[in-house]
Formats: sequence, structure tokens, C-alpha cells
Amino acid sequence: MSHPLPTTPAHRANSDLPSAVSAAEERFIAANPKSMRRAEEAARSLPGGNTRTVLHYTPFPVTIVSGEGAVLTDLDGHLYTDFLGEFTAGLYGHSNPILKKAISEALASGVVLGGPNPYEAQLSALICERFPSLDRVRFCNSGTEANLYAVSAARLFTGRDKVLVFRGGYHGGVFYFGEPLSPINAPFDFIVGRYNDIDGTGKLIEKEGKALAAILVEPMLGSGGAIPARRDFLQMLRDKAEQHGIVLIFDEVMTSRLAPGGLQEHHEVTPHMTALGKYLGGGMTFGAFGGRQDIMRRFNPYEADAVSHAGTFNNNVLSMAAGLTGLRDIYTPEAAQGLNAIGESLKADINRRAKKHGIPFQVTGTGSILAFHFQSGAIACAEDTWPHSAAERERLEGLRKLLHLDLLSAGFYVARRGFLSLSLPLTEDDYRAFADAVEEFMVVREPILSADAATVQI
Ligand code: PLP
Repeated sequence: MSHPLPTTPAHRANSDLPSAVSAAEERFIAANPKSMRRAEEAARSLPGGNTRTVLHYTPFPVTIVSGEGAVLTDLDGHLYTDFLGEFTAGLYGHSNPILKKAISEALASGVVLGGPNPYEAQLSALICERFPSLDRVRFCNSGTEANLYAVSAARLFTGRDKVLVFRGGYHGGVFYFGEPLSPINAPFDFIVGRYNDIDGTGKLIEKEGKALAAILVEPMLGSGGAIPARRDFLQMLRDKAEQHGIVLIFDEVMTSRLAPGGLQEHHEVTPHMTALGKYLGGGMTFGAFGGRQDIMRRFNPYEADAVSHAGTFNNNVLSMAAGLTGLRDIYTPEAAQGLNAIGESLKADINRRAKKHGIPFQVTGTGSILAFHFQSGAIACAEDTWPHSAAERERLEGLRKLLHLDLLSAGFYVARRGFLSLSLPLTEDDYRAFADAVEEFMVVREPILSADAATVQI
């Protein structure tokens, strides 16, 4: 039950951004009274009614009550085709029957068993087989935790403290390197480099090399705007890490789905350690970190110098069973190639339409992870997308809000910041309808997009 964009002359007259945004907001509020009430009630016990910051948007988020395939239903009865895909964790959609069966079977055998179970070693074997850098892997409960352990393992292995990360990088709630840097980042000694800057980063590593325990990098900035790394940038990181005895960690929490063996396989650049998460738990809570045997050896409890890696739910049967079934029976190498090829076509299709209309708008990303940007021209790092002034920031936030509210109104669920991830149950019709809806936004909002682009460049 979508409620399409009005295309009346009065609506078109909203050719300045603030009035278009406030009209879209009014429409959203009128269409979502139950979600609004729930958000108000939630704020009595949760700060801002929220327990996961990325799900917050103004005026309030719609409450999702159910999901089936790639369709979400909200509290007011609207249906949305899901192009957010739970920020990549929703690869399998919301009700995959094979996964439901695996989860039901695990549930039937009981939960919180307090011992090794039959699933965990099968899942670890499969993951080590798929991802080139993993001799050994250990499980945890989130991507954030996976990165905390990977960085801690690198510090232990090298006996050094500093960690090189990149602007725009996101490695979890305590590892965010946007602008400004998050004040609640984990208290590691971070050095922040510029993504894809081969020369500058090379010099930084030459200078700091002997103090660096780890280089922590996403082989494509995910939350930072779906900005792919250049292969030669990743290769340079690998070469310099080898040269200076630094542990190179690829955070493939998002990107491991972009090729059968992740972007490390795609680029043929093998890190020393890898952090994983999201869809690899088959829709259940999940994280994993692993890598070279001589680094992971310290987590072997039989070793005299072993360190403890605890975690009550590290091997919880629901994540282990769902993760195993998903990777083994559903997200096969062929399925990974198929979904990512579809993502490449969708990106090309929307970019072609933007070009046709002369709109400063583009989709970036790789395969099934994509993002919208209100600018044309190449984007190599997060800074290329950041506003330079308060006015530019306000404009960008306004445009993101307008696109988000317009797409919700047209029955498509995406993130406010313009992030998309595709899921297996999406159909060809869904992709066509989505590209049409984005094009409709370009056409209906053309006066705003072009007028503002003429006065403010970002
Ligand atoms: N690393 C990357 C690249 C991510 O995108 C995320 C989450 O979005 C994380 C780590 C953190 O994962 P989690 O939300 O499971 O803690």
C-alpha cells in the first residue's frame, strides 16, 4: 500500500528545498499516526525512543512490524520493498524458508546449552574455506566485537600500540572515523589516514611504521558512502604492512558478500586478519575474526601462552545453525556472483538515468552494496562527499531527507543517508520499479536539484 508522490502543480511549485522538505514531512506525519504514537511512547524509556542510532531519522522512524521475502510492513499498514536489507545483514530477506527450518530445528534441540555444539566447527570450516586470509577463525556477537578482538590480537602479536584507520571508516559503534571523530571511540591510539591516498598513506606508514600494530581498513567504505578502494591502494597497504611488521586487518563485515571470498578474493590482496559479521549469521546476531595461524594461535586454549576470548553467546546455536545453512546452502559462490552482477546493473541503470536528466546525482558502490550521492564526478574518499560549510551541510541533509521521504512514500525502504543493500528475494520487477522511483524523484524534484546545484557545489 504505497502512497505515491503527488505531482500536482502545487507540489511542483515547492521548488525550494526547505518548503519541499516540510511538505514531504507533513505528508509523512499524516500517513504514519501509529508509528508517531509508538515513537513518542518509546521516548519515555529509550533516549529519543531509540536503541540503535542508525535507525533514527526525523521526524520519527516508521515502526516495522513484519517482513516477508523482501517486503516490510509498518505499523500503519504501509508496505515497502526493502532496499536497505538491514544494512547488509538482511541478505537472505526476512523469511527464507530454508533458514527458518534450520533455526526451528536448532530451537527444537534447545538453546543456551553451555557447551560446544554440532554447528560451530562446520561453520568455521566453511568460512575458512571461503575467505583466503583465514587459517583460523573465532566467533563473537557483532562486527564491532570482531574488530575489537582483531585489533587487540594485532597489538598482542606485535607488542605495539598504534592503529592506522581511515577517514570515513566505520568499524562499529566504538570505531567511527567520520567528521568529527566519535568521542566514544575505543581508547586505542589511532592515526587517521586518507582513504585511497596511496602517496600520503605510504608516507604516513613510513613515518609511523615501527609503532603501528595494525592497519584497519574496509576494502570498500560501507557506511562512509559505498566508496570502493582502489586495488593498488590495498596492495600498497599489504606491501607496507609486510615491510614494517604491521598486521593488516580487512574489515569485511559488510564487504564479504561482494564476491564468493569477499573483496580480498576479488582484489587478490590477502590481509593478515579479517573481521566478519552481518549476513554470515543467517539473520541472527553474529561476528567473527580470524587470520593467520601464527596470530590466531594465541587464542588456542591448549597453548601455554594462550589468552582468553570469552563470550557467552559466541557459539549460540541459532547463529551457528542459521549461519552454516545460509553460507552452505543459499549464498553459494554462484549466488554471490549473481546478486552482485544485479547490483552492478542497478547502479549503471540509475547512473544512466541521472546523466540523461543532467542531474548532479550518482550511485556509488560495488555489487550489492550501493549509496546515493548528490554530486557528479569521481568520488575516491569520504572527504570528497563531505560538505564544506554549514550551508552545504544543510542542503545535503535536506536533499537526503527529501529523497528518503519520497522513496518511503513511493513504497521503497532505504536508509536516510542514502545507503542501499540488495537481498536475494528482490525480483527483476522490484529493481525496475525502484530505478523508476529514483528517476521520478529526479524529474519531480529537478528544479530543486538543479537550482541548488547551480548555487552550491559540493
Ligand atoms: N564493520 C563494518 C564495516 C560495518 O559496516 C559494521 C556495521 O555496520 C560494523 C563493523 C559493526 O558491526 P555490528 O553492527 O554488528 O557491530
